[in-house]
Amino acid sequence: MASQNPVMEAPNIWAVAQQQFDAAADQLDLDDGLRRVLRVPKRELTVNFPVTMDNGRVEVFTGYRVQHNLSRGPAKGGIRYHQDVSLDEVRALAMWMTWKCACVNIPYGGGKGGVIVDPKQLSQRELEGLTRRFTTEISPLIGPDRDIPAPDVNTNAQTMAWIMDTFSMHHGYTISGVVTGKPISIGGSLGRNEATARGAVYTLLDASATLGIDLRGSRVAIQGYGNAGSIAAQLLANEGCAVVAVSDSTGGIHNPAGLDPAKVNAWKREHGTVVGFPGTDEVTNAELLELECEILVPAALENQITRYNAPRIKARIVAEAANGPTTPEADAILYDRGVFLIPDILCNAGGVTVSYFEWVQDMQSFFWTEERINESLKGIMDRAFGSVHEMAKRHDVSMRTAAYMVAVARVAEATTLRGLYP
Ligand code: NAD
Repeated sequence: MASQNPVMEAPNIWAVAQQQFDAAADQLDLDDGLRRVLRVPKRELTVNFPVTMDNGRVEVFTGYRVQHNLSRGPAKGGIRYHQDVSLDEVRALAMWMTWKCACVNIPYGGGKGGVIVDPKQLSQRELEGLTRRFTTEISPLIGPDRDIPAPDVNTNAQTMAWIMDTFSMHHGYTISGVVTGKPISIGGSLGRNEATARGAVYTLLDASATLGIDLRGSRVAIQGYGNAGSIAAQLLANEGCAVVAVSDSTGGIHNPAGLDPAKVNAWKREHGTVVGFPGTDEVTNAELLELECEILVPAALENQITRYNAPRIKARIVAEAANGPTTPEADAILYDRGVFLIPDILCNAGGVTVSYFEWVQDMQSFFWTEERINESLKGIMDRAFGSVHEMAKRHDVSMRTAAYMVAVARVAEATTLRGLYP
């Protein structure tokens, strides 16, 4: 039965990212030279760096910063702390950022970073030391005009504050635009914390209108209960959905009558897990994906929906809040079965879009109201959904391939117009 476990599938996500690009390049009949350029990252930096732990022992950590393409603007992409980070994973995530920024048409290229570490094993002081030294090691690449990191799995506003402070100390003055996702008091943007989930909900509103599904009363299952997942749960409950199941790395909970996300949040804060929340049955992360529901929101890690479980997924809409949760084989199965998939580079682009607003506000030292931010985000998400859906209908392709076609065509145009140097 091991092969029934979707997590066991784990194809190399860099190979997946290239395969997804190839499909779009074929559809666009992209020039061979351009394909070779866009198929690989422009720069990759690997750093091994020491951190003194609380017990006085020196540990050496490995981290990466990858820039995939800079034709449309500076690199943009999060930094992930996880024990399974690899160069291939960071490459894939960097490439996806290029397409994501192009898909929603914001003026950035794609980058990503990661450190191989299980942050739960480190104290706050050790995490700060690790973050400051990692920032120093990647500082030849980052900067507000070059490459702007943001939070990703297991990093947050505090991590961004340490990166901003470290970079500013190197230069002798405050450079708030070097990262986004900062605390509000040091140049962060209102609405950034909720932006990924909010953007995903806007695309879900668009998708449900397209399919004629009423979100009110729709049952939602959400895998992953961090920034993206827990806030999506609250916003979807606000839209009248019944959030019937949620999970985190320790397991999942299910109540067909619906959960109150605010109460689940309080439980998780107190117990460190969603599991055990009163009035729910326990489900595994694999079982959660196959529950009876109209909307499934993967909001954890990659490779969760695979050829093994895709035939059993009951949802009518899959909204990819996570990056890369669906393998290409699973994509094909879901498409054939008529499941409407909102692909990651569209669905979770709300995070980078409000990061873009944060960067613009930092550059101008002029800060917007939350109302303006949410309205501007909605405009961008709705336009992007419209272009992708239009492309899907025109070429009779999946929403994933359509999103890639919109994005790759924009990056290809910018790269061609700029020409090859020298
Ligand atoms: P996070 O660290 O806040 O939360 C991750 C959640 O996933 C946690 O609840 C964790 O317990 C859970 N998780 C970890 N491993 C799991 C597993 N094997 N099975 C089930 N759950 C597991 O991270 P986040 O920022 O919410 O990111 C989640 C996903 O969304 C990632 O794929 C990330 O790349 C993507 N994303 C995040 C943002 C953002 O702005 N935060 C933007 C775009 C995309």
